[in-house]
Amino acid sequence: MKLPIYMDSHSTTPVDPQVLETMLPYFSERFGNAASRSHSFGWDAESAVETARVQIANILKASPKEIIFTSGATESINIAWKGTQEMYGEKGNHFITVATEHKATLDSAKYLEKKGCSVTYLPVDKYGLVDPKDVEKAITDKTILISVMHANNEVGTIHRIAEIGAVAHARNVLFHVDAAQTVGKVPIDVNAMNIDTLSLSGHKIYGPKGIGALYVRRQNPRVRLGAVIHGGGHERGMRSGTLNVPGIVGLGKACEIAQVTMAEESARLIGLRDRLMKGLTSQLDSIYLNGHPDMRLPNNLNISFAYVEGEALMMGLKEIAVSSGSACTSASLEPSYVLRALGVGEDLAHTSIRFGVSRFNTEEEIDFVIERVVAVVNRLREMSPLYEMAKEGIDLKSVQWSSH
Ligand SMILES: *Cc1c(COP(=O)(O)O)cnc(C)c1O
Repeated sequence: MKLPIYMDSHSTTPVDPQVLETMLPYFSERFGNAASRSHSFGWDAESAVETARVQIANILKASPKEIIFTSGATESINIAWKGTQEMYGEKGNHFITVATEHKATLDSAKYLEKKGCSVTYLPVDKYGLVDPKDVEKAITDKTILISVMHANNEVGTIHRIAEIGAVAHARNVLFHVDAAQTVGKVPIDVNAMNIDTLSLSGHKIYGPKGIGALYVRRQNPRVRLGAVIHGGGHERGMRSGTLNVPGIVGLGKACEIAQVTMAEESARLIGLRDRLMKGLTSQLDSIYLNGHPDMRLPNNLNISFAYVEGEALMMGLKEIAVSSGSACTSASLEPSYVLRALGVGEDLAHTSIRFGVSRFNTEEEIDFVIERVVAVVNRLREMSPLYEMAKEGIDLKSVQWSSH
């Protein structure tokens, strides 16, 4: 077993060796520009791109013509929001989204608010779920887009996308889904779920970084989006720029592998994730699961450890690459806005750890992580007067803290 152990697969994943192998020729001998129509180098690249389009469409149950290549989910989300505003701005200027969305969505929303649009940010329940009835109630004559993530990247909660899609379509409002965390883990069917635009990313699914895709529905209804990047008219004018052929080939292969292995791999991830959960809960008291107990990503475990100090906990876990609920927004010590939206108190948000189990983690690694986390939490609690008082049955909320 090699240290450190990588268990942060919601942030990024390594490129699958099969994906890398498929990409390599497109850096060297097969280097053509997919837009070159006059020679075989171009035809070869174009054919590789079209193969990837089919592989990506397949995992979404979409048609290949509905796939637009981008630099990642952040760009796809930006196009979905700004392109919708540009094309449908005459019809209305109201957007609906959820408080726990990824920053790519929230910052696109803020940008459009500055341009005069209005945005409704719906709250979530203690499990991180938005109520489809709240989505319905928020729709007005001016609503042009509902944007909801399929699964949350911090707590793993999976939203009721099909129900929200049905609400959107019944009211003729376009529906965008950020599926960066779910492609290859949770089945997606853009027609059954009434999804009009969908964002995905290569590096979250064992593909390369800097490549992503946007699904844009072509019928019932035919969706049109204004461009964010202007240029040579690539990708039906929605996203200009010479295509990243090796990246596209890698994204396609990553989707193909994900589709073939999804059922088996999700079951394996759930097994490892539950082993981790059981290992921790059987040996530690006062720990809390963040997110939904069942409606969650197979690879996600987000847990708060009471009576320890967040920074000290992370320091003690240097051999394990995980994310914490306080370091999430990089340099700031603000507790995660996602956990706060779920109503998790500041103390518990600061001591939360997000474990993201991946395709390459082993049972041996899970057992090592359990052992380390239990040891570090126990050591920190031994030094904690608060934990001692709680153990003695003193209700900490009732204590009169004296300042002298
Ligand atoms: C990672 C992620 C993104 C951003 O994707 P990039 O490809 O890194 O730009 C957006 N939404 C969610 C839910 C993510 O997990």
